[in-house]
Order: sequence, then structure tokens, then C-alpha cells
Amino acid sequence: MNLKEIIREIPDYPVKGISFKDITTLLKDPSAFNEVVNQVHENFKNKGITKIVSLESRGFIVGGAAAYLLNAGFVPIRKKGKLPAETVAESYELEYGSDTIEIHKDALTEDDIVLIHDDLLATGGTALAALNLVEKMNVKKVYFSFICDLKFIENGKKEVLSNYETHTLVE
Ligand code: 5GP
Repeated sequence: MNLKEIIREIPDYPVKGISFKDITTLLKDPSAFNEVVNQVHENFKNKGITKIVSLESRGFIVGGAAAYLLNAGFVPIRKKGKLPAETVAESYELEYGSDTIEIHKDALTEDDIVLIHDDLLATGGTALAALNLVEKMNVKKVYFSFICDLKFIENGKKEVLSNYETHTLVE
């Protein structure tokens, strides 16, 4: 199945010059959704993953389904102010301004083997911020999973991420 063809491209969204990769066309296709979740499961089933950490909000969809198949727990990372209990926060730069993401302080332990999943890797800023949050909890090991990696974007953040075993379905 050609997953790349199933992901719709929206020109000039959210701003002029950006071609947005719309994964809703993949999610609504039963075989494509099934294939994506199964491939994440297949790739990580022998890694001893104890928690999937996913990013609000598109990361939750495949992250949640894969956590179920891997018999792993699910841990959300959310935008500042959305999680109800005590959190750890990490801020990161965007093209214009900055953003802050949070995770519950008691969400992970030193015994956890973590898979960080998001729908798409662009500049790597979001994934690196998620990594910084997860590493604050001294977990045992971290893996990454993305549906889509915009390979044409290369920078230092992505170089940091390349030190971690990463599974990507579409480039
Ligand atoms: P980065 O921080 O790597 O530049 O951007 C990745 C984050 O922004 C992810 O959380 C992802 O959901 C979102 N994102 C950026 N561009 C796109 C896109 O073209 N399509 C989708 N689906 N998400 C995007």
C-alpha cells in the first residue's frame, strides 16, 4: 500500500508557501490506518516498550492504538495548562515565537522504556522538546516513531534525534 499517496497535501496551509501534509485522509481509510498501527507494532514489539508518549493532538490517534497493541501504557504530552496534575514543562522556539509543552510529573519512572510517537517530523523542534521532557524523568531508553518525516528539512535538531532509533513510515 502506498501510504504516501493516501496522505493529502494542502497547499498554502496554515500559511502561504507551506504544503501541509493532511493525515486525516490516511486515518479515515480502514486499511491504511490498520497498516500504520500494525507497522508500528511490528517494529517495536520486541523492544520492551512500557509507555508510549504522544503529542497533542494528532499523535494521540496512532499512539493510542499502538500502545494498546504493544500492551504499553499511554502518556499524553499537552500544550501548557491542559494537564490537571503537577507537570514538568519544556519551551521551544517556533518560526515565530515559542511554545510550551507539558507532561505529568509522575507519568514516567526510571524503569520505563519509552516510545515517543508523533504524526509528523518537520524541523524536529517538537520532538526534541518531547525528548527533553522524557529525559528529565531518567527513563531507561527512548525510541521515536513518526508516520511522516519531511526529510528535506535538515538541521541540528534532527541531528540530535538521529542518535535515537527511529521508525518512519513515509518520507
Ligand atoms: P516540528 O516541530 O518538527 O517542526 O513540527 C512537527 C509538529 O508540527 C508535529 O507535532 C506535527 O503534528 C505538526 N506539523 C507540522 N507540519 C505538519 C504537516 O505538514 N502535517 C501535519 N499533519 N502536522 C504537521
